[in-house]
Amino acid sequence: MVELLYLLDCYLKEFEAHVLRISEEGVVLDKTAFYPEGGGQPSDKGLLIHGDEKYEVNYVFKKDDEVYHVVKGAQTLTPGDIVKGVIDWDRRYTYMRYHTALHVLSGVVYNLYGSVVTGSQISEDKARIDFTLEDLSKEKVQVIEDKANEIVQEARAVKIKFIPREELLRNPSLIRIKPELIPNIPILRVVEIEGFDAQIDGGTHVSNTREIGRIRIIKTINKGRFNKRIEIKLE
Ligand SMILES: [Zn+2]
Repeated sequence: MVELLYLLDCYLKEFEAHVLRISEEGVVLDKTAFYPEGGGQPSDKGLLIHGDEKYEVNYVFKKDDEVYHVVKGAQTLTPGDIVKGVIDWDRRYTYMRYHTALHVLSGVVYNLYGSVVTGSQISEDKARIDFTLEDLSKEKVQVIEDKANEIVQEARAVKIKFIPREELLRNPSLIRIKPELIPNIPILRVVEIEGFDAQIDGGTHVSNTREIGRIRIIKTINKGRFNKRIEIKLE
């Protein structure tokens, strides 16, 4: 099983790994800092470097406990090769800021209205998140935006923790997504915004809320009687 370096260290920009195999689908490594698409966060891009050869990584995905790095010309790599991976950092850091911003929002909405998240998607210049909310008036949107920016400005530490699965039973607020989306593993990863919010999560995050910048709610969409979408942009 591949070692997912980004789970422990979201700021790892370069790493070395062994090539395990090369398939039609992509290059499989024994460890990787590339984030594979999932949980509303897009895949990383970057480079795999072997000697003088550079391979552009255009897309990374997870399948059957393996991570596939989609590169052109991978045939010239051989299992056992040591490659250096380099993450396209500007792109990734933007996703980290947006991902933590979405956790701030989900914490605010959960604390105020008890709503959970039904879906989310990050892109390079905005992000959206859907909540089980019946009513989302202009006034509520303003309250949510103000409260979210308050948390950002409080410069709270964002910490990664690992907990045994049993703890979910004692602390159900850790679950903000559909329970069937929680990975079936004994140790779960928790992303905690100190003193404010903690939830099960597999994404990459900034280490302090002040790195998010200013959160602006640019749009809300009624996705059904009990489902409301909020779109944000970071400034
Ligand atoms: Zn998340």
